[in-house]
Amino acid sequence: MKNIMFIAPPAAGKGTQAKKVAESYGIPHISSGDVLREMSQEDSELGHSIAEKLATGKFIEDNILYQLIENRLKREDCKNGYILDGFPRNLSQAIEYDKILNSLGYEVGTVILIHINEETLEKRITGRRTCESCHAIYNIHEENNSPKVESICDNCGGKLYQRTDDNVDSFKNRLKAYKESTEPIIQYYREKNVLHEINGEDTVDNVFKQVKTILDNEN
Ligand code: AMP
Repeated sequence: MKNIMFIAPPAAGKGTQAKKVAESYGIPHISSGDVLREMSQEDSELGHSIAEKLATGKFIEDNILYQLIENRLKREDCKNGYILDGFPRNLSQAIEYDKILNSLGYEVGTVILIHINEETLEKRITGRRTCESCHAIYNIHEENNSPKVESICDNCGGKLYQRTDDNVDSFKNRLKAYKESTEPIIQYYREKNVLHEINGEDTVDNVFKQVKTILDNEN
């Protein structure tokens, strides 16, 4: 299976789609945001500094990301493909990612860009709830995406929480960072002929159908 990467603005559904891909194709889901949120729980200087940046929607330093991604991709379970969600997020990271891929003998694979309106994103951000155990994602404002029991994860029974950065102020910073820093990588992957584009303005299942069509054609 080719490696997969999602590019999308905050709350466009990349985490949700990445989880579905991981389950359907039996490959690991590597979310830089999930790893950083775990690191932010640590009672250390690094943990506190990450927590502060996450809450305000600021990017974490590139070097922290490089270590985290390289160590994760070296693991045995990535040999048959993996799905990367949240990295790279700027051009320097995209260039460093190529170096990491080279050193491991891996290819970038399939890159999927999710298109979505800003108004939809802002609505989604306040309703998002995340499972603290398995990281499953719900939206309490969407009938077909709400948990069956309030605040409890359908998958594992874990407790749902609202991310510290899922508020309107932080969202504005995250969207600005996406436009300024992440959007330039779209052209980078377009030029490599690996970019596919889908419409994220639909139900989770319908967006996944678009993802699946691309992946089934590519593999
Ligand atoms: P996400 O879960 O992908 O929405 O990421 C949540 C937050 O984690 C982002 O708003 C950033 O603060 C941080 N983050 C995740 N991935 C990266 C990255 N590749 N570079 C810098 N910061 C990141």
